[in-house]
Amino acid sequence: MAKHQYQTEIGQLLQLMTHSLYSNKEIFIRELVSNANDALDKFNYLKLTDAQFKDMDWDPKIVIRFDKDDNSISIVDNGVGMNEQDLMDNLGTIAKSGTKAFVEQLTGDAKKDSNLIGQFGVGFYSVFMVADNVDVITKKAGEEQAYMFSSDGTGEFEVKPVTKDEYGTIIYIKLKEDEKEFHDTWRVKEIVKKYSDHIPYPIYLKYETEETTGEGDDAKTETVTKFEQVNDATALWRLPKSELGDEDYIEFYKTLSHDSEAPMTWLHTHAEGSLEYTTLFYIPQTAPMDIFRADFQPGTKLFVKRVFITDDEKELLPLYLRFVRGIIDSEDLPLNVSRELLQENRVLANIKQASVKKILGAIKKLPEEKYDRFIDQYGKLIKEGIYTDHTNKDLLLDIVRYKSTQVEGMTSLDAYIQRAGEREGETDKHLYYLIGDNENILRHSPLLEAYKKANIEVLLLDDKEIDEIVTPAIGAYKEWEFKDISTIDAPEVLSEAEQKELAEKHKKITDTLGEILGDAVKEVKVTTRLDESPSCVVPDSSDPMAGMAHIFRQMGQEVPATPLILEINPENALVQKLENLDDDEALNAAAWVLFDSAKLAEGLELDDKAAFARRVTDLLGKAL
Ligand code: ADP
Ligand code: MG
Repeated sequence: MAKHQYQTEIGQLLQLMTHSLYSNKEIFIRELVSNANDALDKFNYLKLTDAQFKDMDWDPKIVIRFDKDDNSISIVDNGVGMNEQDLMDNLGTIAKSGTKAFVEQLTGDAKKDSNLIGQFGVGFYSVFMVADNVDVITKKAGEEQAYMFSSDGTGEFEVKPVTKDEYGTIIYIKLKEDEKEFHDTWRVKEIVKKYSDHIPYPIYLKYETEETTGEGDDAKTETVTKFEQVNDATALWRLPKSELGDEDYIEFYKTLSHDSEAPMTWLHTHAEGSLEYTTLFYIPQTAPMDIFRADFQPGTKLFVKRVFITDDEKELLPLYLRFVRGIIDSEDLPLNVSRELLQENRVLANIKQASVKKILGAIKKLPEEKYDRFIDQYGKLIKEGIYTDHTNKDLLLDIVRYKSTQVEGMTSLDAYIQRAGEREGETDKHLYYLIGDNENILRHSPLLEAYKKANIEVLLLDDKEIDEIVTPAIGAYKEWEFKDISTIDAPEVLSEAEQKELAEKHKKITDTLGEILGDAVKEVKVTTRLDESPSCVVPDSSDPMAGMAHIFRQMGQEVPATPLILEINPENALVQKLENLDDDEALNAAAWVLFDSAKLAEGLELDDKAAFARRVTDLLGKAL
C-alpha cells in the first residue's frame, strides 16, 4: 500500500471544489458519466483493432448503483480501465496544465466556475463536492492486476492492489452526510437525462425498492432490485435531421462540450457519394476559455463507423477553427487508421476541406445579432485564418469585420469598398488602415487628421498583436490594396519641389529639434498630414527591421525598438511660436514634450515618464 501526496495544484483545486464550487454539485454525475463514456469508447476501439479482444463478449454499459445502507453511490463502467501508473498519472497528477488554467479562469461566481470544470480536464475532481471519500476500483483491459485508488479529497491519496474480475472501473462514492439528495433515484434520473441523454451507451440505474404485490391478506412487501435504463443511447449525429429538434441538438451539444449555454449555431451534414460521412459542428455562444493557450483541448472528435477514434487531434479542422465543437464520423476510413498519420490521410483531408467550406458558409449566413457576437468572440481567429488558410482567404476576408473611422461598430470590407467607391474623385483602390492597441487611442491618432480632412475612411485595427502580422500579408481584397497609413505619405501630398521648398523653409526648427532629441529620433521633418496636432511620430518604414520586429518579438527575441521619425505641423500655432523662440531652456523642454506627447497619442510607452511630467509642469508654470 502506498500513500502519495497530491501535486500542490491539485490540493488547491480540491480546496476550491469542496469549499467554493458546491452550488452546482450535480455536475459531478455528468463528469463521471462522461469519463465512463470515454472509457467505453476506448475499449470499443481496442476490441475492433486488437486481436486479443476480438472474440470477447462485451455488452458496454454504464451503471449507477445506489446503496442507502452505506450512504454511497457508484458509477460503474466496463470500459478500458486503468492500471497503477494510469491512476497515478490521471488522477494523482495533472499532466496537462488543466488545473492551473482552470484556477486562472475562475471568476468567483460558483455557478459559472463549476461549469468550467469539464472544459479543463479536471472533471474527476468534481466528485469531491459531494464525497467524503472516493474509491476508484479499476482493472485495465488486457492486464491481470486490479488496483484501488482512495482519497478523501484532502492532501493525500492511496493506491493499492485489489481483486476485480471484469475490466473497467467502479467509482465508489461515500456521500457526505448532507448529500442525501443523490440517493433519490428520481433526482439522479433527472440529472442523467439533463446532461447525458445522448451518451451512445446505455446508462442504467440499479437500486433496491420495496414493492407490494397482492391485495388484502395476501399483500406481500418485498425488496426488489430495479435495473432501469434512463437514456436513449443513440449516436445522435447518425439520426436523420428530420428526427431531431432544436432541443435534441442543444442537449447533445452540452454533453459534448461541457458547456452550460446553448450554442450559437450548428450544422449537421450527411454526405453521400464518393465519400460517405456525417459531421455535426457547433459554434459555442462564448469562446472556449483555452483557445488562446498553446495547450488548448481540441473540440472535434473523430469516429469511424460510429467507433470513437480520437478527440486529441488538433487539426481535424484547421487550427483557426479550434473554437468549433463537434463530430466527424467517416464510413471510408479504416478503423485502424494510424492516429499519427491522420494529417496525411486523403479521405480525412477531403472531409476537412468540405467541412471548412460548410462552417464558413454557416458563419456568413448568421443573422445580424449573432454575427456581431460571433465577431466579438472569434474575430481574432478569423484574422488568423486569413493569414493561414490561403484556399479560403477571400471567403474569410468577406467574413472579417473591422472598426473604422466612418462607422460605429464594425464594417465589412465590402461596405468599405462601396463607401469609398461612392466618394467623389476617388480613384485609388486602397483599403487604408491603422493598427494600435486600443480603439480610443486609434480614433484620436494624429495620423488620421489628413484623412479626416480629405474625408477618406480608415480602418482601425485594434487587435495589434494579430493585425500587425496578418494585415501587411493580405495584399489585396477584390483588387483593393491594403495600405498602412503610418507607413505611407498622407493624401494630397505636395509635389517633390513643393515638399523641398517646405522643408527648406522650416529647416531651422527641424534642425534645432533634431539636435535636442539626438538619438531618440531618426529624423525630424515637417509634414502636411496633420491638421490640428502639432506633431506626430511614425515608424521609419525604410528601416529593414520595421516590418518584422513584432514577429521576432512574438517569438521571444529581443529586438531593438524601430526608430521613430518626429513630424511637425508647420501650420500649428505652437510650432510657429517655437520657430521664433529664443529661449534655449524652453525650446529644449518643448522639443521633448512635442516628441513624448506624440508618442503618447499613438499609445507608445515613454522612456522617462517622470521627466515628461516635470517638463509639462515647468512649461505650464512659465505660461501662466
Ligand atoms: P478528462 O476527462 O478531461 O481527461 P478528468 O479529470 O475527468 O479529465 O479525468 C482524468 C483522466 O482519468 C481521464 O482522462 C482518464 O484517463 C482517467 N479516467 C477517469 N475516469 C475513468 C474511467 N471511468 N475509466 C478509465 N479512465 C478514467
Ligand atoms: Mg472527464
